[in-house]
Amino acid sequence: MENTREFTIRVLRRYEVRTKKSLGQNFLIDDGVIDRIISNVPDGSTVLEIGPGTGALTRRLVEKAGRVIAVEIDSKLCEILKEEIDSKRLEVVNEDFLDIDLNEVLAERAIAVANIPYYITSPIISKLLTSADMVETAVLMMQREVAERVVARPGGKEYGILSIVAALYSEPEILFYIPESAFIPPPRVESCVVRFNKRKRHLRVSEKDLLRVVKVAFSKRRKTIVNTLANLFNGDKDEFKEYLKKAGIDPMARPETLGIEQFEEITGIIFKKS
Ligand code: SAM
Repeated sequence: MENTREFTIRVLRRYEVRTKKSLGQNFLIDDGVIDRIISNVPDGSTVLEIGPGTGALTRRLVEKAGRVIAVEIDSKLCEILKEEIDSKRLEVVNEDFLDIDLNEVLAERAIAVANIPYYITSPIISKLLTSADMVETAVLMMQREVAERVVARPGGKEYGILSIVAALYSEPEILFYIPESAFIPPPRVESCVVRFNKRKRHLRVSEKDLLRVVKVAFSKRRKTIVNTLANLFNGDKDEFKEYLKKAGIDPMARPETLGIEQFEEITGIIFKKS
């Protein structure tokens, strides 16, 4: 088998592919990186690949997985994949990943594996975590800066909605970092691979209410929690302050210092009262 560098370069030349920056097309050429990603895939599993591109990862996935469903928005790349990867295990879906109903596409449990297009990293993560019941694990390559937001804990400037969504639905961990030289064309940012082991946290409040509170709170991350959320509370700021104090939450705290448990507490107060 050609190594990944030879494969990607040959395919790009053979089909005269002009890489589209607008679709985040940076193709992998590094076998070491691919080996490390593939080691997360159980033998015979069903894999959902997002953005297979020219197939650098796909051709290795079909060797290990039982079935690979590869969702690619670029129709020319879909034709190339079918031509270059001759495997009954591969199903190419020419769609925008954000538009497909994953519960329709996936009938069995799956692992999502992808070098995702960086311009839609957050919506892809959200979709996989919140509306893909069959996806149990996701191994995703993304910009280092986003990965650090995903795994951030309360207290730092990286901590925000993405960190809370990730922790609400999974245990995310950064597996390893990747230099720009692992891609053609090289992206301007450093990348890394994050593994999300999905697990549903038991909540005492509705998920929808909790996320609404988190979004409002982080819309003004420099402001105190009592000031930002008092109007959602539908009422008296002083009364809200008292409720917060009783729940052991400093009303003057800023959202970036609060963990999920505290947001859960706040949501309980707000939605019980309104
Ligand atoms: N997996 C390949 C690799 O590692 O060499 C390509 C990765 S490249 C960073 C991202 C891929 O996602 C591109 O092939 C691009 O066309 C595709 N893509 C971009 N937006 C997409 C979308 N909304 N839905 C599905 N695929 C998309």
